[in-house]
Amino acid sequence: MAERTRFGPAGVPPMFRLMGADLPDVPRLLREEGLDALEYAAVRWGPKPQISQELAQKLGAAAKENNVQLSLHGSYYINLSGKPDVVEASKRRLIASATAADWIGAYVMVFHTGFYGRFEKDFAFKTCLDALKDISSQMRSLGLKVKLGPETMGRKFQVGSLDEILTLNQEVENTQLVVDWAHLYAIRQGTLKKPEDFRAIAEKVEQNLGTEAMRSMHCHFSKIEFNPLGEKKHHTLDEERFGPDFQMLAEVIADFQMHPTIICESPNMDVDARKMQETLRQILESRQLKR
Ligand SMILES: [Zn+2]
Repeated sequence: MAERTRFGPAGVPPMFRLMGADLPDVPRLLREEGLDALEYAAVRWGPKPQISQELAQKLGAAAKENNVQLSLHGSYYINLSGKPDVVEASKRRLIASATAADWIGAYVMVFHTGFYGRFEKDFAFKTCLDALKDISSQMRSLGLKVKLGPETMGRKFQVGSLDEILTLNQEVENTQLVVDWAHLYAIRQGTLKKPEDFRAIAEKVEQNLGTEAMRSMHCHFSKIEFNPLGEKKHHTLDEERFGPDFQMLAEVIADFQMHPTIICESPNMDVDARKMQETLRQILESRQLKR
């Protein structure tokens, strides 16, 4: 697929459901809106895929036909830092999500790794790292191709700081960097508010994972409300009281010649995805004119 920044919603937009659209219609409807990515939500799944292989493949074919890039958000019921039985159950859920991700042809399976719980932070992280290495090797022996995308998290008790996610990407095979900018904003208590703050993150990613991993990061974006523990609620782009500011990320995308996929997690997911796309288009266009 061509290297360009792609935009799409986190799940099927509610309006499509109201229109009575079937799942395989969704990529065409997104293309008609000018969007070119979709994160299929498998967030409430248990130990088995909750979509038939046939329907999944129809979705995959429709996405290809309409040049919509698919990703899949795996089950929320995961804790790779828990007790051994919890970790084993989490692995099964992730393998189920990965199986369906391959059926639809998703390039990455995004997921939340888990919680520190009562464990020491370092121990919780090591448990998570070992579990992910095992999942990655199980996936290889099962012939599953989708990349593992542990996401940067927004609450203090969740495993998934930027440093932890960078380490997972360095240490585990077949991973894809997933940065949720709203979560970073929440965990940093709103201190992601100057263009330099965004640049610093891109630079840190580049130093740790290289230029191409930085340019091709998978992103989640929305505005967010936070409290001292971090993430509270996702908000729409129009809500001025909340951050982060997409304009600043768009400038960094242009500066660093990035081509990320940006999944919009605001309550207005497809509408806001279009707004972000337009913001980036204007920035790229004004730079062309200045040359
Ligand atoms: Zn997520």
